Amino acid sequence: MPLQDQLLAYFRLDQRVRAMRSRLDAAINRQAAQERRLAQLNQQAQELTAQHKQAQAHAATLESEANEREAKTATLRDRMNSVTSNKEYSALLVEVNTGKIEQGKLEEAALAALAKADELKAQLDELQGRVDEQAKLVEATKQEVKDAGDEVGEQLETLTAERDAAGEPISPAARKQFDRLVVVHDGEAMAGIEEQNRRRMEYTCEGCYTMIPVETVNALITKPDEVVVCSNCERILFIPEEIRDALGAAKS
Ligand SMILES: [Zn+2]
Repeated sequence: MPLQDQLLAYFRLDQRVRAMRSRLDAAINRQAAQERRLAQLNQQAQELTAQHKQAQAHAATLESEANEREAKTATLRDRMNSVTSNKEYSALLVEVNTGKIEQGKLEEAALAALAKADELKAQLDELQGRVDEQAKLVEATKQEVKDAGDEVGEQLETLTAERDAAGEPISPAARKQFDRLVVVHDGEAMAGIEEQNRRRMEYTCEGCYTMIPVETVNALITKPDEVVVCSNCERILFIPEEIRDALGAAKS
């Protein structure tokens, strides 16, 4: 097999390995993102629960203070029944009235605190609904990762072995060049040439859309054992079957 064909076969298998791995990676990333979101929501729920408990406790304190006031006023009223002087009666009356006003204020504050607690509870319920939904999403993405792993796992192994085998006959120098370009172009080490105008022999690199000189196109056809690269992006070029056939037909 000519070097150019070896490289192309290796490249195509490598592309498939990458695509397969990226599906699994994408699923893993999605799961991580959904888990982060769930952790955020749980954090919010914790904070809201604490606020709710605080509001409830505050309301309970105010209620018991109001009750104490009421009890105290009742005691004062009892005493009013047994006093003999007007002066003492008036003083107690003032104290009873002040106590009633105080009690009213405490009751009002207790009601406001209860309303606040109810409001927080409603918010908490709504948030809990979101936490539950998010937990479901996390479970779904976990399943996705598992499915992708199950589906891809064995296949990926087989395909990787196939790719590695396809890479063996390639000369070390060409392999080195390929491996370097894989890093530079994020897996896209090779590019096909694209026909722009056959009559004028105009072709471009599919990787960077730069015009490719006729000599380069010719080298692809006449020197299949040489690595031919795009002078602009340096990707290793290959000539798609249909273009090769068309050019071959035109030449013969
Ligand atoms: Zn190029």
